[in-house]
Amino acid sequence: MNKEELISVAKEAGFTAAGILDAGTLELRQEVRDMCKANSCGMYEKRWSCPPGCGSLEDLQKRIDQYHHGLIVQTVGQLEDTMDVDTMMETERLQKENLLRLRDILLESYPGLLTLGAGCCTNCEKCTYPDAPCRFPDKMVSSMEAYGLVVSDVCKSNDMKYYYGNCTIAYTSCFLLE
Ligand code: SF4
Repeated sequence: MNKEELISVAKEAGFTAAGILDAGTLELRQEVRDMCKANSCGMYEKRWSCPPGCGSLEDLQKRIDQYHHGLIVQTVGQLEDTMDVDTMMETERLQKENLLRLRDILLESYPGLLTLGAGCCTNCEKCTYPDAPCRFPDKMVSSMEAYGLVVSDVCKSNDMKYYYGNCTIAYTSCFLLE
């Protein structure tokens, strides 16, 4: 698919915004992984999608190095006020739903794609980590942060907005395509 086709198919899948990602701009940072370890989201050591189960930064760098380009996708929600948690949660749900829908479409053209989402993998109510292998390794989605990425930097480096203004919430994910 060319650039226009990729962006068009992302919009058709429900995303508010989409743009082309240059994999060369991705910087995997130890500081981000250290923030995972602080476990403010409560998912550290809980799922195969998250550190440390998703692999070392070195392993993930090798995986990223296989790709040259990709697609950034965003769902933006309009909040009634800064405490509008319902819209925040609904926007996150839509982002995950759109992501899985688009992944299925892109897999037809890019069977080796890598999907990096927003938040941990929620395919199974109870993850098998660490007692048994992941049930759906082909469908597991790690977050961009789990890969050590600073999402705002990735957006900036690829001419995508990260902040959409007062009383908005934007969730960002990406695909690496090769
Ligand atoms: S697919 Fe299931 S088992 Fe695998 S990481 Fe996600 S929640 Fe865990």
